[in-house]
Amino acid sequence: MLSNIRIVLVQTYHPGNIGQAARAMKTMGLTDLVLVNPRQFPDPEASRLAAGAEDVIDQARVVASLDQAVAECVQVVGASARLRSLPLPHYDEPDAMARTLVEQAENDPVALVFGRERFGLTNDEIRRCTHQVSIPANPDYGILNLAQAVQVLAYETFKAWRQRPASDFRTPRPASERAPTRKQLDHFHAHLSRVMAASGFLTQPHARTEAQLQALFARAQLSRKELSLLRGLLKSLEPGDQDD
Ligand code: SAH
Repeated sequence: MLSNIRIVLVQTYHPGNIGQAARAMKTMGLTDLVLVNPRQFPDPEASRLAAGAEDVIDQARVVASLDQAVAECVQVVGASARLRSLPLPHYDEPDAMARTLVEQAENDPVALVFGRERFGLTNDEIRRCTHQVSIPANPDYGILNLAQAVQVLAYETFKAWRQRPASDFRTPRPASERAPTRKQLDHFHAHLSRVMAASGFLTQPHARTEAQLQALFARAQLSRKELSLLRGLLKSLEPGDQDD
């Protein structure tokens, strides 16, 4: 189950931070590290600071976009010290986030996403997430070093995993009741945009409206069954037979 929990680092600047993040992960039983466009990787400094977690570094995957890193994940939690204007579901308490993450990871991959040392995650990247989490900290100085933020959330995840309900009390959830993957949600939003354009509701691409609708559906926490109901509804509004 912990193998379903992925740590994603976006455009990390210092290779040493990648190494320290890998070490933080391994101490908490996490091994799946994905790097989105790191400035410098592989790098001896990353391996050196990983200490006993070189295996995590060696297995890390490098991808070109956040979308690629999280396509098949059903929950994508962006870690950010700052509250954004985008009204995505937000966890103020990492332990509440970790409990849901561990529950979802029972069946499907999930991701915790961390931003750049200098300016964190962009609004566009936050929009690619299904949730946000903040680590409560000193209001006058609440920004943690990247690897320390990874450590805190990895610890909360490990703790939630240790304290998870015994498997005897958990009933396996059928796919239709589980959360859709990021890719399934993307297909839905692309479909919705096509229908809005065809109906004349949007006369030109309107990123703000699309972002608001994405946040609205993120808050609704749809199941796969509900998502396919909406896809059917959209399809019925389109002229002729169309797929995807
Ligand atoms: N200067 C950046 C923060 C960079 S810290 C900014 O102003 O946004 C690097 C990363 O660590 C952040 O992108 C975030 O993912 C994580 N992080 C740091 N402090 C955090 C906190 N208090 N809560 C949640 N994530 C945090």
